[in-house]
Amino acid sequence: MSLSPTKQLILETMWDLNRPAKAAEVAKAIGVSFPAVMMHMIGLERSHYINGKRGLYELTEEGKSVIDPLHQRNSERLYQEMQKASNLELAGRYEEAAKIYESLKMYEKAGEVRKMAKTQYVISTSFRFEKGGTIIISCPHCGASQPAESKSSQISCKYCGKSYVVPKKILDMI
Ligand SMILES: [Zn+2]
Repeated sequence: MSLSPTKQLILETMWDLNRPAKAAEVAKAIGVSFPAVMMHMIGLERSHYINGKRGLYELTEEGKSVIDPLHQRNSERLYQEMQKASNLELAGRYEEAAKIYESLKMYEKAGEVRKMAKTQYVISTSFRFEKGGTIIISCPHCGASQPAESKSSQISCKYCGKSYVVPKKILDMI
């Protein structure tokens, strides 16, 4: 179905409002008389482009897709970027994830991820005993093992060079 300009304008306005709205509100926003807008909105509801509940109308998925394929594409891209960031986060690539969040203007989330990166190495240090009681610790960054020899709580990995924290309970056993 092709939409009349007024119907199209109504859908666009509702898109911009981005929340359930009364017909009177929409009428005011586009400067068309309330009865005319109401009539169009009844038509739009009948075509399943909008959905009304107790006088409040919102766009249906169908309404969104018919009014603005561009917006649709944008939200798809946004979804993909967020998916990518969350995968990077899972993989422990926090800085890369934070940069994507920043590009999406999700500054708070970017900060959270960076905070997580700082605490991550503290909690993920693991250890095991070897024959003879030697304690082997694993680098949380690259997974390489090395014997825990120093009483220092901050160790730098012989393999990847990154540093990490050895918990006190391990140091006490050396
Ligand atoms: Zn390492």
